[in-house]
Amino acid sequence: MPAHDRLYINGAWVPSHDTDLLTVVDPTTERPLATVPDATARDVDDAVSAARAAADRWAATPVGERADLLRAVAEELGRRAEPLARLVAQDVGSPLSFARAVQVLLPVNSFLQAARTAVAYPFERAQGPSRILREPYGVVAAITPWNYPVHQAAAKIAPALAAGNTVVLKPSEVAPLSVWELADAIATVGLPPGVFNLVCGSGPRAGEALAAHPGVDVVSFTGSTHTGRRIGALAARTVKKVTLELGGKSPAVMLADADPARVVPDVMASAFMNNGQTCSALTRLIVPRPALADVEELARHTALDWVPGDPGEERTRLGPLASAAQLQRVRRHITRARADGAALVTGGEDPPAHTPRGFFVRPTVLSRVDPRMALHHEEVFGPVLAIEAYDSEEEALNIANDTEYGLAAAVWTGDEHRALALARALRAGQVQVNGAPFDPNAPFGGYKQSGNGREGGTAGLEEFLETKAVQI
Ligand code: NAD
Repeated sequence: MPAHDRLYINGAWVPSHDTDLLTVVDPTTERPLATVPDATARDVDDAVSAARAAADRWAATPVGERADLLRAVAEELGRRAEPLARLVAQDVGSPLSFARAVQVLLPVNSFLQAARTAVAYPFERAQGPSRILREPYGVVAAITPWNYPVHQAAAKIAPALAAGNTVVLKPSEVAPLSVWELADAIATVGLPPGVFNLVCGSGPRAGEALAAHPGVDVVSFTGSTHTGRRIGALAARTVKKVTLELGGKSPAVMLADADPARVVPDVMASAFMNNGQTCSALTRLIVPRPALADVEELARHTALDWVPGDPGEERTRLGPLASAAQLQRVRRHITRARADGAALVTGGEDPPAHTPRGFFVRPTVLSRVDPRMALHHEEVFGPVLAIEAYDSEEEALNIANDTEYGLAAAVWTGDEHRALALARALRAGQVQVNGAPFDPNAPFGGYKQSGNGREGGTAGLEEFLETKAVQI
């Protein structure tokens, strides 16, 4: 396990210029888990300089060699899968079985996918009288959140490196420990010094220094819409390319011919996945008014399967929220929704009786939510599902599209033509039909204020490639 008191810059684990430390708290016990550096603007400058110095050689390295190194990172992560999953369970509070299946396997896939995509990619092609070249930008700054710490980092680092860029990663200071393991895995495979760098620090200090740094060519950010706006403004000073993967308030539309007994458990599994801290979670279930009472009863019953507990235990499905701030925020949302007139079906703002410690929230379902309420519009980022009723399909679509977000959506119906028609009309970056599984190789990203740009597959690689037209 690498020491958490160092940053990884220019191929070495080095101390920060400052002795300031940030405390990482275990969300289950509320006890300190580790301290990490609060990197300064000077640390960020060192990391960017190292990345700049390494950029030309890495860009000139044949794509096959870059891909081999990325495959080696995937292998190394695979070897560390169990300790990594346990670290995420402890640090983020993700249930262990979920951490194994998603928090570890997704990043392994990201490295393999980026290697495969880059090797097959036409970096040069003829178009009429021109040759079209796709070239790396140079230095990519990756700024990531805490809910899927390794996955979100890998979804940026892997395609950025595959495309021939060098990278400076700043993970979230809330749950960063698994990212040290990722950095150590990358260090182990022997990338040239400076190609990958890790700085850890707070958003206002390290994050702002990185987003504004003139030596950075691309900022790839995942996090809240609020921070995304700030990063966009900082990066605009030097006209950097910016990609933003932001928040969501994603709707699941159940049409009258769908079976509520299938829909409700599936949508609740999406809403409560990773303790309700998934950007693309389906957090609004939109149902025909005649089915409302049935749906509420099913939701009350299904919530019994989501008992909050220790994320390190095999059977736990719902762990704690990642931080005390997140707990307060989620409770405030529930109180506000009730004051606005939403009906509490199950759960609520009181802590679960059997968890005296930890940032736990009961699985909560609020019904009779409508577009006048904050709960319809605002991302909660906790295990809270809103149920909304509609009287016509047109109204269902309006309710679904009526937020500033557009990350994900779902449709439930027995009629494939209606499903596709609705999928086309939904303003979201991904639409799931009848509970179809997530495809980690498809482009992922948001419409509207859920972001700009895509991660995954060829679209994800192209975000890190400049376009040059050469006329001969
Ligand atoms: P956040 O915006 O608070 O922080 C994200 C990252 O930005 C962290 O590394 C943080 O240190 C940094 N940061 C904060 N302020 C900054 C500033 N002023 N300048 C530069 N960097 C700064 O988000 P969070 O609380 O860590 O994550 C939760 C949010 O992320 C939710 O809104 C969620 O929907 C979103 N999210 C989106 C996706 C997606 O792919 N669309 C995926 C996961 C999470």
